[in-house]
This record gives sequence, C-alpha cells and structure tokens, in this order.
Amino acid sequence: MVPMLEIGRLTVRFGGVTALDAVGLLAGPGEVVGLIGPNGAGKSTLFDCVTRRRVPDDGVVRFDGQDVLAQPPHLVAGCGIARTFQHPTVFPGLSVRENVMTGAHRFGAAGFWRAAFARDGERRLRAHADRVLDLFGLLGLGDHPADGLPYGVLKRVEIARAVAAEPRLLLLDEPAGGLGPEEAMALAGLIGELHRATGMTVVVVEHHMEFVLGLCERIVCLDLGHKIADGPTYVVRRDPAVIAACLGA
Ligand code: ADP
Ligand code: MG
Repeated sequence: MVPMLEIGRLTVRFGGVTALDAVGLLAGPGEVVGLIGPNGAGKSTLFDCVTRRRVPDDGVVRFDGQDVLAQPPHLVAGCGIARTFQHPTVFPGLSVRENVMTGAHRFGAAGFWRAAFARDGERRLRAHADRVLDLFGLLGLGDHPADGLPYGVLKRVEIARAVAAEPRLLLLDEPAGGLGPEEAMALAGLIGELHRATGMTVVVVEHHMEFVLGLCERIVCLDLGHKIADGPTYVVRRDPAVIAACLGA
C-alpha cells in the first residue's frame, strides 16, 4: 500500500503530559480508519497535527508524500484535507447554507476562475452547498441562522461544511457525539455512502462502537498517548488490551 497519509513517530508534550508518544499511523487511499481510545488518549491532538494546527515536538506527517508540517496551516485545507471538531465550530452569525458555503470556497470564484465566473461564482457555490445540504437532510434549514440550532444539527452542519470542500482526506472528531443511537447510525450510513461514492479517505474518532464497527475496515487504538493496537476491525475489536482501555467496547 502506498499511504496517502503517513504519520511517523508523532510526539506531542504539554508540560509534563505526553499527549502522543512516537505514534505512527498510515492510511491508504480510500481507507476508512477508526481512531479509538479513552478520553485523553491523544486522538484530537493527532488530528491537530495532521491539519498543522499544532506543531509536534517530534515526528513526521506526510500527505501524498508532501511534508504537511512544513506548510502554513491555511494551505493544508488546499491540499485536500478537511476536518471537523469534537465541539462543533460553526459560524454563529451565518446561516446554515452560508456555513456550508465557507467549506466549499474553492468552488467559488478565485484566481483565474474569478475572471471567468465573476457573476456566476456565488450561484454555483450556493448550488453546490445546497446539494450537500440535501445529502445531509439539512436543505430545509438552509436559511436558518446557525445560532440556536440543536447540538446534533450543528454537528451535521459542520460535517456538511467539511464534505462540501470535497476533501481527499476527511478527519471526523467524534461525529456521533451528542447524537441519539438512531441518529448516530444514520450518520454512519451517510458517511459510508459518501465514502463509496467519492473514494475519499476517512479517519474517524468515535466512542460509539457500533458506529466504528459499521463504518471502519481498520481500527487504531490509542491509550495515554501510546498506540496499543492497529489492524483489521475484526481483530482489534477482540484485542483484550483494547477492550480494557475502552471499557468493554
Ligand atoms: P482525546 O482527544 O483522545 O480525548 P486529547 O488529544 O484531547 O485526547 O488530549 C490528550 C492529552 O493532552 C490529555 O491529557 C489532555 O489533557 C492533554 N492536552 C490536550 N490539549 C492540551 C492543551 N492545549 N494544553 C495542555 N494539555 C492538553
Ligand atoms: Mg478528543
């Protein structure tokens, strides 16, 4: 396998806490990898390094062979990496549609295309956002301000915004957090469909084990900054160390 995402020896320290201790992770093109582990294992910190929000103390992150850590953070999205956050970060002053449009900005008029599509850009962007909203069952809320929407809806808006960028690598941080069991499984189904339709690579952090088991072909488990398992889902789910770390997951 030629990895699309290659993480090696990733080490992050916060004072006396080692959040990640020489962690490696590979993801091939089109793979769906589950990243599991108890709270404080280092999962979100790993995503922060892949998106260059955080510069690790040591280690490498390569995407398509390119050194991500050498890029300024704002260029990482342009490489084809999109993420969501554990706590949804929508723009409260914008409507649901406008939030999704911010994710799809590369479909807007920029550079050469600005000249070519000056008048058309906004309309195309809106149409693209509406297609994504429709996929996520959010079209009816397109004009609704993102303020004051229920938590579960905000989570979906944030995922829709990430998907609108048509990333080649999608990093989802606890997408089912705060969702009911039915809503969570519907979301897993939708992400699976999007994956089959686009072939994008997905790394998903999730505590909801049915969600992970249904969606991911491979699981990586972290515990206190160490990788304790990495393999096919059917193997890792039975690993006693993983079961102990994740409390019977
Ligand atoms: P997870 O997402 O697996 O729950 P995190 O990556 O959020 O874990 O955190 C890993 C460890 O790093 C935890 O011990 C956490 O307290 C610590 N940590 C994370 N972010 C910071 C920060 N900004 N400052 C200090 N410690 C942090
Ligand atoms: Mg986290």
